[in-house]
Amino acid sequence: MKTYKIACIPGDGIGKEVVPAGQKVLEALAASTKAFAFEFENFDWGGDYHRQHGVMMPENGLDALRNKDAILFGSAGDPHIPDHITLWGLRLKICQGFDQYANVRPTRILPGIDAPLKRCTPAQLDWVIVRENSEGEYSGVGGRAHQGHPIEVATDVSMMTRAGVERIMRYAFRLAQLRPRKLLTVVTKSNAQRHAMVMWDEIALQISKEFPDVSWDKELVDACTARMVNRPATLDTIVATNLHADILSDLAAALAGSLGIAPTGNIDPERRYPSMFEPIHGSAFDIMGKGLANPVGTFWSCVMLLEHLGENAAAQQLMQAIEQITANAALHTRDLGGTATTAQVTQAICERIAATA
Ligand code: ATP
Ligand code: MG
Repeated sequence: MKTYKIACIPGDGIGKEVVPAGQKVLEALAASTKAFAFEFENFDWGGDYHRQHGVMMPENGLDALRNKDAILFGSAGDPHIPDHITLWGLRLKICQGFDQYANVRPTRILPGIDAPLKRCTPAQLDWVIVRENSEGEYSGVGGRAHQGHPIEVATDVSMMTRAGVERIMRYAFRLAQLRPRKLLTVVTKSNAQRHAMVMWDEIALQISKEFPDVSWDKELVDACTARMVNRPATLDTIVATNLHADILSDLAAALAGSLGIAPTGNIDPERRYPSMFEPIHGSAFDIMGKGLANPVGTFWSCVMLLEHLGENAAAQQLMQAIEQITANAALHTRDLGGTATTAQVTQAICERIAATA
């Protein structure tokens, strides 16, 4: 029987509640299918680690993760540590260190979820946003000069490489090809940004020739936000730069009903390194330790983790259990207008999994 080595990094805030919940659910699945097993290793990296050691994770931390089959991540964020330190010191360090260049974010309105777009049925909103996760606006290139003086200048350079754009475009076209509608929207801003975004468009056209069965169109990022609200059914797979996709996927999560539900995978498609799966929400210190955290985003991330491992039957079983949970209003957490606790939702889903064995 195959045993998968999974690294669990709960991180900060409600990450410490939802990651153990995800671990329980994965264990329940392994027990139910008897087809595979998990060997979990927990890493206490994050804000508390920073207070003790002055860094979010050890210098050689990536080495401890390198031989894992996947990483389940919670969130990095601490009210007492600047955001750029928590982000670059842990999450981005792993994303960049393991070249997880494709950030994949499915969005659907799950059964029983009261989504804000009343004109939109679940069948009309079924998207996957592919976010370029290694360069672009978040490449870290730039600087400040004459700090504090009237002549101060500061730049953030959106750096794109041909190789970086080609690989994310190819990933997005391939993903679109695997989905029933074979439909890809390439998000751009080449009307205003005349260098990197123009190359982005050119490469989209070039890669599209490799996928003649995929229909694709180009949309300006501003127009895309309106289209997501007004004509959601015209979208399916969406590829966008690091910053654009960051913004679009928060909008997508909100349109689907709650930030607490949305999952994501930081994927190295070439499988040279472990990929990392996490809910898209942050540390949410305002609700920490109260049992209010919705664990569904983490459970859906576990579905993506299982798909990545090739355990498609187990992934489907978990997704079905999630949909049965969301369909039952008595199992909604507070963000969905309910009163269920993290522990109750976790318990219910584990029972459902055991029942479908
Ligand atoms: P960070 O700084 O790490 O991004 P944050 O405090 O900005 O964290 P987010 O996680 O981005 O918080 O979420 C914003 C708000 O949405 C939270 O304050 C919380 O009330 C709510 N929220 C987020 N995730 C969940 C969840 N899983 N369950 C319930 N509510 C959530
Ligand atoms: Mg936040």
